[in-house]
Amino acid sequence: MDPAEQKSSSYDVIVVGAGPAGISAAINVANRKRSVVVLDGRAPFSKTRLAPSIPNYPGFQYSSGEELASAFQAHMERFEIPFLREKVSKVMPSEDEIVVFTDRDMYHAKAVVLATGVSREADLEGEAELVGRGVSYCANCDGRLFAGREVAFISYIPEGEEEAAILSEDLGVSVIYLPLYKGDPHLPEGVQVLPRERPARLRREGDKILVELASGPLAVDAVFVHKASVAPGDLAEGIEVDDGHVVVDRGMSTALPGVFAAGDSTGEPYQIAKAVGEGQVAALGALRYLREGRRPEPEEPPALAREDRENLTRILRDRMVDPVQLTFFGQKAAAGEAPVPVCDECREAGRLLEEFASLSDKLSLVALDYRTDLAAAEELGVVRIPATLVGTPGQEGPRIRFFGVPAGYEFGALLDDVLAVSTGVSRLSAETLAAMAAVSRPVHLEVLTTPTCPRCPDVVRLAHSFALASPFVTADMIAVSDFPEVARAHNVLSVPQMVVDGALLGAGPLDEGRLLAAVLSAGALRP
Ligand SMILES: Cc1cc2nc3c(=O)[nH]c(=O)nc-3n(C[C@H](O)[C@H](O)[C@H](O)COP(=O)(O)OP(=O)(O)OC[C@H]3O[C@@H](n4cnc5c(N)ncnc54)[C@H](O)[C@@H]3O)c2cc1C
Repeated sequence: MDPAEQKSSSYDVIVVGAGPAGISAAINVANRKRSVVVLDGRAPFSKTRLAPSIPNYPGFQYSSGEELASAFQAHMERFEIPFLREKVSKVMPSEDEIVVFTDRDMYHAKAVVLATGVSREADLEGEAELVGRGVSYCANCDGRLFAGREVAFISYIPEGEEEAAILSEDLGVSVIYLPLYKGDPHLPEGVQVLPRERPARLRREGDKILVELASGPLAVDAVFVHKASVAPGDLAEGIEVDDGHVVVDRGMSTALPGVFAAGDSTGEPYQIAKAVGEGQVAALGALRYLREGRRPEPEEPPALAREDRENLTRILRDRMVDPVQLTFFGQKAAAGEAPVPVCDECREAGRLLEEFASLSDKLSLVALDYRTDLAAAEELGVVRIPATLVGTPGQEGPRIRFFGVPAGYEFGALLDDVLAVSTGVSRLSAETLAAMAAVSRPVHLEVLTTPTCPRCPDVVRLAHSFALASPFVTADMIAVSDFPEVARAHNVLSVPQMVVDGALLGAGPLDEGRLLAAVLSAGALRP
């Protein structure tokens, strides 16, 4: 039967990868009359077919990879297992199902078996550092950001041609295609195709990414890299990965309930017999999971480690003077309602602030719900959640604000803000404080950050110091990892970035003097 005719949007088990591990898992699920589909971005058994001779697979002595692949294929057809040629880009467990996103569609499953093999496509030099800062693996997700701009599309496999064509024809991106595979690419006329050559390095220079080629550097706005596989950690967030391999227990369960892994993806030896055996164990685990339901959720570890709690308790005890209030806007589940999936970050931020506030009697937390306390949110200008406002108890409209989870490096900025509000001691120089007296019109500072950016908290501290110094200044940290639309609106590819009254302050180091000049220019009445 035509796979398209068999296509459904939900299955008992989704198998990712049509290699020996995936086929073994799928056969074992189908044998128990449960619904199953196999997804693979490439033709089934592509790797198996490469083996000129396979001397060690029982029953098939010295068969060629091609012969064994044909036998696998026949078995799949006999069991009427649907195969869809779609590359999986994300596996996301939600409350009672697992959502699988591909380059074309979205599917629902009760359990998933990852049988994605290993990738031999080593990163280019500089690639890892630029991921999310100009390098993307998902043209479908990020292509729109580059409409009307020029990108390089580096593809390790012919399947990249389709995505590059979509970028060029449907999304209006100017594409320079760099094939790293043999054969002539077939691309629309608008796509410029370069000769096959592995770039020596990718690096950023100003607003551009330079692709270093033998003929000289190619400067583009972004680079899309298309590989046969997605690293397991990127495929399923929360999965444990060790040295590139998915960590599993003896039942092939991963750290994510309902997600199993098998074959080369779980580690050496990279062998067909091992892949087939693990595929079966993973399928049996998935079938058991379907019968018995969810594994008990492991107890959530505290947001603050014991050692951090001890240090913070001491710091707050020794250094806080006046009380400080944290006002938090999140989104709670109403009685009888499943937790709202759109705001996992709210849960994370809420837990962190609750634990933080419990460390000192002088630190209080008012936790509000964005849906039920919408009027309060509107009055305070809270337009996105999670939001944390730092002020004194009862203060009208606190102007030191964090949008996104104030975790990672940003937690240091939150702590310093609490101490600064509590002591009233500014981090700004006496000259800056004196100059700030001239500010008499509202100024809005926004610092675009990510939790993994070590340079961001200093810029956040600086902006918040200006908010503390003048009742006319409001300063926000905005974690663009939680609110990517903000990064897109300002067309930024790197953080930190300072936005003053809606306009980017521009490149160059940001010190107190430069920000003061910008704040005065925006907020001081000119003579
Ligand atoms: C030349 C050669 C000779 C070999 N000879 C032997 C031998 O003699 N004996 C032996 O035992 N083994 C041999 N092997 C190794 C054997 O082929 C592998 O161990 C085996 O194929 C692993 O099976 P697997 O199912 O885990 O992964 P794979 O066969 O690699 O299959 C994984 C599949 O997952 C797909 N995939 C990856 N990411 C995604 C995604 N994001 N979305 C959708 N699909 C995805 C890939 O396209 C691929 O089709 C040989 C390998 C090679 C290359």
